[in-house]
Amino acid sequence: MAGTKYAYVRNFELPDPLLPDTFIVLRIDGHAFHRLSEEHQFIKPNDERALQLMDHAARDIMDEFKDIVLAFGESDEYSFLFRRSASVYNRREAKILTTVVSLFTSSYVFHWPKYLPAQPLKYCPSFDGRITLYPSPQSVRDYFSWRQADAHINNLYNTIFWALILQGGQTTTEAHVTLRGTVSSQKHEMLFSRFGINYNEISARFRKGSVLVREPVPKTATENADPPAAEGDKQEGKGASKKKTRIRTTVELYHCDIIGDEFWDARPMLLTE
Ligand code: ATP
Ligand code: ATP
Ligand code: MG
Ligand code: MG
Repeated sequence: MAGTKYAYVRNFELPDPLLPDTFIVLRIDGHAFHRLSEEHQFIKPNDERALQLMDHAARDIMDEFKDIVLAFGESDEYSFLFRRSASVYNRREAKILTTVVSLFTSSYVFHWPKYLPAQPLKYCPSFDGRITLYPSPQSVRDYFSWRQADAHINNLYNTIFWALILQGGQTTTEAHVTLRGTVSSQKHEMLFSRFGINYNEISARFRKGSVLVREPVPKTATENADPPAAEGDKQEGKGASKKKTRIRTTVELYHCDIIGDEFWDARPMLLTE
């Protein structure tokens, strides 16, 4: 093929490398999921099954892309952090973005019947995606703080909004009017006094979103003696001549705070590698 007279058209394909030594953050978001959630009778304000399906698809992404060290999900979106030194697909932007978005979408569809067996898909869901490069650990932290704060604000609003409708008998328009101009403390108060809901007792999954993090697995005594070479494990050290030590990793799911220092201080590798 390469030698044909047509091959010159390849020159029109432009390289799109992502700047080296920067943190790649890739965020996907469901296309028109407001409609998808209605058409498939998602439980409001939070359908846990749909969130678990998102977590499953995100885990599939992390199983495939070992350079992803952290992911954060809420509602119909997921953000993925690649380690700064990631070299996947030679850091070609379109290749990384399209492959992740397409694998996430196909995993979401593939696993849908396990999570929502009573709601067969009526049409093909899709996700959009974007990549943003962050230059410093602080900007990465601020990015994830921004998404978790967004999850909190949306969830507080949606919780009281749907309580007004489902328990308070209001229409959606009336609920919007009731909430217009209210600040966070007033929403907490309204939830408690009118519906007996203590916001802080709502599932952490809904309040904090989902955090998937790649964690090292402590070695067993036998492994210490003779490290195994499990497929896909992280490799330390560069160059074929060096003996490779491999750290076995696993992806853990948490619904914890990632705005404060504690989460990051416990995992310095997330922002140093
Ligand atoms: P766009 O295509 O611009 O992203 P969208 O309709 O997907 O539009 P978003 O701002 O992304 O809008 O919001 C996603 C919407 O999907 C939420 O507002 C909510 O209505 C719905 N949704 C997503 N996940 C769930 C869930 N687990 N339970 C209930 N509703 C959900
Ligand atoms: P990459 O991820 O880089 O695209 P790839 O394995 O998909 O790698 P391609 O250059 O895209 O490589 O080539 C697709 C390959 O898939 C073909 O070389 C062929 O082996 C196989 N293939 C695709 N479609 C068919 C088909 N209809 N019948 C048989 N083989 C096919
Ligand atoms: Mg969306
Ligand atoms: Mg969204």
